[in-house]
Amino acid sequence: MKIRENVPISKLTTMRLGGKARYVIEIEEDKDLAEAYHFAAEKKLPTYILGSGSNVIGRDGGFKGVVFVNKLHGIYVIDSDPDRIRLCAKSGELLDDLVEYSVKLWNGESYGYSGIEALSKIPGTVGAGPVQNVGAYGQEVKQTLHSVCVYDCRDNCFKHMMADELDLGYRHSIFNTGDGVGRYFITSVTVELHKHWLKPPFYTSLQAYFDERGVKEFTPQVVRDAVAEIRAGKLPDPKDFASSGSFFKNIYLNKKQTKEAKAKGIPVWDGGKVPSGWLIENAGLKGKEFYGMRVSDKAALILINESAKSYADLAKARQAVIDIVYEKFGYTLEQEPMELGDE
Ligand SMILES: Cc1cc2nc3c(=O)[nH]c(=O)nc-3n(C[C@H](O)[C@H](O)[C@H](O)COP(=O)(O)OP(=O)(O)OC[C@H]3O[C@@H](n4cnc5c(N)ncnc54)[C@H](O)[C@@H]3O)c2cc1C
Repeated sequence: MKIRENVPISKLTTMRLGGKARYVIEIEEDKDLAEAYHFAAEKKLPTYILGSGSNVIGRDGGFKGVVFVNKLHGIYVIDSDPDRIRLCAKSGELLDDLVEYSVKLWNGESYGYSGIEALSKIPGTVGAGPVQNVGAYGQEVKQTLHSVCVYDCRDNCFKHMMADELDLGYRHSIFNTGDGVGRYFITSVTVELHKHWLKPPFYTSLQAYFDERGVKEFTPQVVRDAVAEIRAGKLPDPKDFASSGSFFKNIYLNKKQTKEAKAKGIPVWDGGKVPSGWLIENAGLKGKEFYGMRVSDKAALILINESAKSYADLAKARQAVIDIVYEKFGYTLEQEPMELGDE
């Protein structure tokens, strides 16, 4: 367990903003957790859990508390039968490494188990996956999550929780709502994957990719490679561009609102989903820059930090986008990434 002091949150998060965290503790083994929480309790300081910081934005005032950075590693086969396998990953593994592991695993007849291949190249750790029920290209964590192990810092003990106890929904779980926020450190995640592979039709843009290339065999590796190529063409790599991925959540409408939106020519997908990226693009904001934050010209849902000096700049840019979209369509966009620290 390593303890560092006065570490800029900008160095721990992909948006690269934010003041200093008073303490940062790297959690390298499960047994570090009790000690780390004890350290914070003794100093009467709040705690915050970080994986790769790809969905957290640091605020200018920094964090007068203890940030736990997740460095728990390991991927294991728990059990399998002729049709399925359970893989357990320690929560500090990268989600993309777990996907790669699963698509390269020999299943007795060929290579690859199916269930998480469309989550390829999503930045971040396995442990953050259930927090906001990470999803992309037609798959979400909820579909294959079996269970998680957590350290409950209220009861000071480890617990095992089944997926159906986690209230997983769109960008939602017990970990990011109510008194579950900050209570559980997810230490490992078990997924249940299948030997039978995905069959077409795939998620619209993925299917279009396959149709254009005449692809007819859909192994998990083929789906992974396709998703990786599509993502590389439009999503900013955190190594090269500072962002938190999708900056705004999609909007969900009830039946009456859906009818009204469709009448105005606004696209509403299955389940009443209005893609916020469409709203931003059709408000004419693609490629526009506000206070050093640029609306990506490839994926309008993404705000890239080109030269913002502070969280305050980001907050002004966010408000500008929200106001313009509201003015044009009457919907209020809501931010997706979490925030850490004081404004
Ligand atoms: C370029 C880009 C593209 C992206 N594309 C997608 C996408 O397609 N789909 C998608 O869903 N997301 C996407 N994201 C968002 C992000 O990748 C996910 O939210 C990811 O799960 C965050 O992982 P992380 O380890 O960086 O978590 P962090 O950002 O460090 O943390 C996120 C939240 O989870 C909590 N948390 C983290 N680890 C734990 C743990 N072990 N126990 C309890 N709580 C924890 C944190 O406290 C925080 O509230 C994208 C981000 C970027 C930058």
